[in-house]
Amino acid sequence: MREHWEDCLAGLSDDRLGVRCQRTRVPVLDFVVGGEEFITMAGPCSVETESQLMSIAHHVRNAGARVLRGGAFKPRSSPYAFQGLGLEGLKLLAAARRETGLAVVTEVMSEHDVSLVAEYADVLQIGSRNMENYSLLEAAAQSGRPILLKRGMVARIADMLRSAQIILDNGNPNVILCERGIRTFETVMRNTFDAAGIALLKRVAHLPVIADPSHAAGRRDLVPALARIGVAAGADGLLIEVHPNPDKAWSDGAQSLDFAAFDVMMTELGPWIALRDSGVLEELPEEHRSAAIHSVEATR
Ligand code: PEP
Ligand code: MN
Repeated sequence: MREHWEDCLAGLSDDRLGVRCQRTRVPVLDFVVGGEEFITMAGPCSVETESQLMSIAHHVRNAGARVLRGGAFKPRSSPYAFQGLGLEGLKLLAAARRETGLAVVTEVMSEHDVSLVAEYADVLQIGSRNMENYSLLEAAAQSGRPILLKRGMVARIADMLRSAQIILDNGNPNVILCERGIRTFETVMRNTFDAAGIALLKRVAHLPVIADPSHAAGRRDLVPALARIGVAAGADGLLIEVHPNPDKAWSDGAQSLDFAAFDVMMTELGPWIALRDSGVLEELPEEHRSAAIHSVEATR
């Protein structure tokens, strides 16, 4: 069935929120994203070396992560920056999965690489810079792997949902949306974390939503706070950059947590995740929801 995201965003109809909005649960290895369990995905921005990746994989697994992230094909803003290990990186990710049991999410940047990346990854990441690369979206969808779709840097919520629609229309129902911050006039942070976007997506779409506080903040000191906000806004999980020695990371060190900071963050998130699990953060009851919808419409 074709979704009508635009109608949905314009009207926020009860229809979309109710009967037609059975939540999508995305199966990955032995768990689901978008179900009861809060899913933490963590790992380096880039796969660098075997020892780097293995130490991170073991560490984040022991701290409660379910998914290992790590870029093998890196979309860098500068052509002179490290572009990723490519196939060698994919092989290291697969080895880390074998050692730890973690699922692997990694970015695919080109439609030509989809079958290669899909051989090694459990979830294909479509990066911000490619959110509107329609031939990539189609090829990735057709791989049959679940897709983590990152919000474009200047993409509206409706734009992201249109890209999600392309994946669904290509026969792949397993789409995970990812809020990773958008560009605004603010320059102190790398991006502006759109917590309201997470809350809105959970209202108008049936797809799981993951918060990426690392790319949103661009600075590690803000990551734990944004992670808490993501949980409170209704996210189904987190995507966090972790590195044993962030100052030496080959990419995105400034926003990467070291092991100790990751552990503290995970421990401190415990009560927030427990609140979520207890249902306190669930959507508003029906009567309040209608009132909220009304007020959204009134302010348009
Ligand atoms: C990443 O996850 O390392 C990445 C490049 O993210 P984004 O596409 O959100 O910039
Ligand atoms: Mn990164």
